[in-house]
Amino acid sequence: MTCPCHRAVVCTPWVNGYSRLACATFLGTFPVSLTLQDCQTLDRDSPDAAALSALRERFVPGTDGTLHFDGNSIGPMPLAAPQRVAQVMSEGWVTMRRRSWTQFDWLDQPHTLGAALAGILGAAPEDLLVADTTSLNQYKCLRLALAARAPRRVIVLERNVFPSNRYVAEGIARAGLAQLRFIEDASELGAALALGDVAVVALSHVDYRSSTRLDMAALTREAHAAGALALFDLSHSAGAVAIQLAASEVDLAVACGYKYLCGGPGAPSVLYVASHLRGQWWPAICGWMGHADTFAFEPSYTPHPGMQRFTAGTPAVLANAAFSAAADIWRDVPPDLLDRHHASLTDTLIELLQAHGGDFGVAIASPLTHARRGGHIALEIDGAAQLAAGMLDAGVVVSARKPDTLRFGVHPLTTRHVDLWQAVQVLAGLMADPGWRDRPLNASSRI
Ligand SMILES: *Cc1c(COP(=O)(O)O)cnc(C)c1O
Repeated sequence: MTCPCHRAVVCTPWVNGYSRLACATFLGTFPVSLTLQDCQTLDRDSPDAAALSALRERFVPGTDGTLHFDGNSIGPMPLAAPQRVAQVMSEGWVTMRRRSWTQFDWLDQPHTLGAALAGILGAAPEDLLVADTTSLNQYKCLRLALAARAPRRVIVLERNVFPSNRYVAEGIARAGLAQLRFIEDASELGAALALGDVAVVALSHVDYRSSTRLDMAALTREAHAAGALALFDLSHSAGAVAIQLAASEVDLAVACGYKYLCGGPGAPSVLYVASHLRGQWWPAICGWMGHADTFAFEPSYTPHPGMQRFTAGTPAVLANAAFSAAADIWRDVPPDLLDRHHASLTDTLIELLQAHGGDFGVAIASPLTHARRGGHIALEIDGAAQLAAGMLDAGVVVSARKPDTLRFGVHPLTTRHVDLWQAVQVLAGLMADPGWRDRPLNASSRI
């Protein structure tokens, strides 16, 4: 099928007759509207369907009557997770006790979990680690970058970055260790780098509101050309789309473990440090688990040669046990399959939103090209919080962010095209009621 503008068209080759969103000129008036049957076909007949349903079956099925679009907040639970935690409690804590450390490789888990993510993050397994929180890992990365680029002291970051990332940087500056330079968006990076005093550029790979994805390789090149290091927060891309850390020559990265990565509630975070930064510089937090020889109990610190130097203390064994269930799945996920399927789902969602939400003033805030966006699709609509609350009451879990962003977190391994169709019906149904903005909000509307 050709686009009416006769200039641009991208067809999904295996779905006869369906034009996918590709045309900026004709957006919104594209003469294709997906039906429920079309969505069923997409779920059933794609060449990837079999592989995807096998992966999907490794997660707990959703509760009846509820559709989850909250992979950007807490990803679905792998079937094996409860049993992994139970095993730590019974065999580990009750039976084996002290022997568990070696019997169950508890101390190796930060490395094992990190290595499982190597494929989807495009990184060497030995450059990854799972430990601590994203904020803590952000701190470690910024301090390491400042040490490696001393005497440069400037951290460049986006003004509207995820608040915790800004707070962490503010704390470092307040301790007298850095100076902050804010940019409105990545287009201002060149100017921010011009003085040649920047130690590190700290960017969100994907914006937590609009879902705009930055060009990681190009921005890293730009930072490097000015002698600065590049740090990316992958919280809204890791586990949703394929990432190429090594090929992009990124220096440092962090990712949230409990969002699309499905590590479990409050799961530890992912840390990536390129090998060239594991030389003479000590980690910001030096502890016994990061020592070159932990159980030698030496009087002074020597950093472990590998990523282990960034684990200051004992791993969170229970949390890691839950995460291990997801890690086993990620190890088996071909990154191109993940990416292709996420593109199909989010393209479908945009198509449905444009077909059914346009009448109600729904504007898509996310980029229309998959390569330019991350895990979720964001809408801009006055009354987003009321809409999220209404959808929640109808069993569709989405989230709102101030001032007027409504987010659909699309998990590539568990979301189906028919789920998207249903969610958009619920959205359109709510908005058909002229009084929908008067809905009262409750506590869960805020998170
Ligand atoms: C969720 C999220 C985090 C999480 O930080 P924690 O310290 O693990 O709570 C960090 N950065 C971004 C961009 C996030 O979306």
